[in-house]
Amino acid sequence: MSLTPDQLAEIDAQRASSQTTLRSTSEGMEARLYKAHPVLDHGLIRVIDYMGDDAAICQAARVSYGRGTKAVSDDRGLIRYLMRHWHSTPFEMCEVKFHVKLPIFVARQWIRHRTANVNEYSARYSVMDREFYIPAPEHLAAQSTVNNQGRGQVLEGAEAARVLDLLREDAMRAYDHYEDMLTPDAEAGKLGLARELARMNLPANVYTQWYWKIDLHNLFHFLRLRADVHAQYEIRIYAQIMCDIVKDWVPQAYAAFEDYRLGAVSVSATAKEVLKRRLAGEVVTAETSGMSKGEWREFVEEWG
Ligand SMILES: Cc1cc2nc3c(=O)[nH]c(=O)nc-3n(C[C@H](O)[C@H](O)[C@H](O)COP(=O)(O)OP(=O)(O)OC[C@H]3O[C@@H](n4cnc5c(N)ncnc54)[C@H](O)[C@@H]3O)c2cc1C
Repeated sequence: MSLTPDQLAEIDAQRASSQTTLRSTSEGMEARLYKAHPVLDHGLIRVIDYMGDDAAICQAARVSYGRGTKAVSDDRGLIRYLMRHWHSTPFEMCEVKFHVKLPIFVARQWIRHRTANVNEYSARYSVMDREFYIPAPEHLAAQSTVNNQGRGQVLEGAEAARVLDLLREDAMRAYDHYEDMLTPDAEAGKLGLARELARMNLPANVYTQWYWKIDLHNLFHFLRLRADVHAQYEIRIYAQIMCDIVKDWVPQAYAAFEDYRLGAVSVSATAKEVLKRRLAGEVVTAETSGMSKGEWREFVEEWG
């Protein structure tokens, strides 16, 4: 990640000036506020603002007149109850606003989560930076042979070197052409193409930036899908950092999320029957399970 000295100074200045407030704050989140966490080769994620804490979730659930905290242990029990029973609206009382810098192909996956408020850097208004995501060698992998939506063996030697060369060369050539198209030249009678048109030849690994605001309930939904091992590495790495941030912000809610969502497994009615039959001592096979081949494979992966 490359932040300019000016950008770093702006962040330092924001962190150096504090304000008093009557509102609840989260100590863990205050420590994170404004700081940039590097992601991938040029990306970042940082918290710009937030509202609420664990107590705010309980306060809303109890529709309380005061701050809502009875005792930390009571709050923990209530938060776990809410999460366990999908009583989700109290979690919507907490909000967070992130500044994210990410490659456009990651942004395309991210933007599918429609319950956030987004404002993206305008490539009509501003010139894009010469910054492209080039995977680290350990993330340069072949197409998976078992999962159509995944990667398998890591590329090595000459093949890896050639792929990296192609990615770098294509990115640099595209950017050179972008700059060339943008640049006016009065002597040559060249007007320079509009930014909104010149940008269209930039590849999907160019970095964009946005502000992304979401409530905690919908953020948990995002994290459950994108911090999961089935999510593509390049978005998962952002989601994992966000998990660490949320853990510091609302530790009790995050612990409940980790237990009931992130680390949990959902079981179909058929799978529940198979588990019961197994517990009763029956040897259930793919043929007698009533499941499809794919379901049975996933079931055995989870339960042995
Ligand atoms: C591993 C993985 C692989 C994927 N592969 C593909 C793929 O191949 N192709 C592809 O197109 N997408 C793919 N997706 C994206 C996926 O289909 C969802 O679009 C994405 O995960 C966002 O989920 P969501 O709609 O639940 O989230 P959000 O948009 O945040 O919505 C949250 C919930 O709000 C409700 N909601 C929000 N907006 C609406 C609406 N307009 N109408 C009705 N209900 C709404 C829904 O209940 C939804 O679940 C993939 C996602 C993952 C995690």
